[in-house]
Amino acid sequence: MSLKIFNTLSGKKEKFVPINPDYTGFYVCGPTVYDYFHIGNARPFIIFDVIRRFLISRGYNVRYVMNLTDIDDKIINRAKDEGVTSKEIADRYINAFFEDIQKLGVRPADVYPRATDHIEEIIGIISSLVEKGAAYPTAGDVFYDVSQFEEYGRLSKKKVEDLQAGKRVAVDELKKNPADFVLWKKAKQGEPSWPSPWGNGRPGWHIECSAMSMKFLGQSFDFHGGGQDLIFPHHENEIAQSCASTGCDVFAKYWLHNGFLDMKGEKMSKSLGNFITARELMELYPTAAIRLFFLQKHYRGPIDFSEEGLNAARTTAERLSLTYKKLMDLIPENREEFNAENIKNSKRLEEFYERIESLDGELIASMEDDFNTPAVIGKLFDMVREVNKYIDDGVADGPEKDILSWVQMKFDGYDRFLGIIDKTRDGIDFERMDNVMQTVIKLRHSLRKEKNWVLADQLRDDLTEAGILLEDSASGTTWRWRK
Ligand code: AMP
Ligand code: ZN
Repeated sequence: MSLKIFNTLSGKKEKFVPINPDYTGFYVCGPTVYDYFHIGNARPFIIFDVIRRFLISRGYNVRYVMNLTDIDDKIINRAKDEGVTSKEIADRYINAFFEDIQKLGVRPADVYPRATDHIEEIIGIISSLVEKGAAYPTAGDVFYDVSQFEEYGRLSKKKVEDLQAGKRVAVDELKKNPADFVLWKKAKQGEPSWPSPWGNGRPGWHIECSAMSMKFLGQSFDFHGGGQDLIFPHHENEIAQSCASTGCDVFAKYWLHNGFLDMKGEKMSKSLGNFITARELMELYPTAAIRLFFLQKHYRGPIDFSEEGLNAARTTAERLSLTYKKLMDLIPENREEFNAENIKNSKRLEEFYERIESLDGELIASMEDDFNTPAVIGKLFDMVREVNKYIDDGVADGPEKDILSWVQMKFDGYDRFLGIIDKTRDGIDFERMDNVMQTVIKLRHSLRKEKNWVLADQLRDDLTEAGILLEDSASGTTWRWRK
């Protein structure tokens, strides 16, 4: 595989060379949990999950971490307004976040660390920065001294001098330089705080991501993602803090940033008030349509929110699901594993096979080219057209039907990372079911490894009884609903 990724750090597409052979570390900045998230926020949640799932489908053992910012001015203010604790606000919106991403078909991260559970690690990094002279305490606050970090500005292509000159007024008197940023904030009356070597206080926002990414992924890891608004200062600051504290050259190797979802040309945001929450939108549109709406555009470019766009995406998603259902209906219950040798005596089959095979290669190549999902969707719909035509021309029992099970497996393979085919069955959500089934498949795999054939077979038979078929092939085990 030759995966190429546009790296914000270099400003170029680069070949993916993993840091670690055992796992691929992927960190994405998560939500600040003071309210329901809007559909603009959903863009990074969806796109980075798609990228992660694609990497998994290509054999990478991805460790995916998304933090939850559960201490922040916005949370504190909301708690004050409602007369409840910050923890109550954070817990409420963390639960809502989990509900919403699940409905959006986003797979859970491997870890969702919370800032407030990592105060010790955060204090540890700040202490090491102070010791090294990269940070300085003043009157209960601690600031990072950007003049001590030569590479500051490399990610965002900004110059420290310009940053300092640009900030003329309202500069915090306690800072040495205007571009310095806060690592630890002195406690204020009535606000949550923790003891530290600099007195009671709470962490700044940037430092939490350094602490949690390095705790779960190591000092250097492969991917770091977030929206383009996070490039500066958030990600620039993460690099400065992390590299200065560990002395490591590389913090995150590949920096991925998604474009904005705009509303009439302006970034959708809470502060501008031009937003619609993901939960509101999910009342109006099926998940597949919302995901397709995002995936039809390249993740780095902007997208304009529009009803027409969403309606069109809904129609397109329905077409795809319909073709998928047609396939499912034609595939025999006791399908034979598809054997490409069996098509040799039929020109029609051979042509169909070659066409799908070549579109498949182009689809995967598009995904490998900086996750070009618009091209991927284009290839997928070329396939949909081919399949519809093939089916409409009539399909006889035998190899003509068997080949469809091979096509269905291809569609299942793409949907493992795209998540745009509606496979809801009897009201059971496919994504949710798939999570459970991956655990069951792993369990059966372990049983077979231990040569416990009796239990492994019983597990499969019980599942068949319950309406689920397991299918073993050279590339692993998959599952599907029985008809
Ligand atoms: P927040 O909860 O504001 O920290 O944002 C969570 C994520 O959503 C971050 O990765 C932001 O960059 C991203 N984000 C915020 N607004 C938008 C938008 N309008 N379009 C795309 N991504 C956004
Ligand atoms: Zn972050």
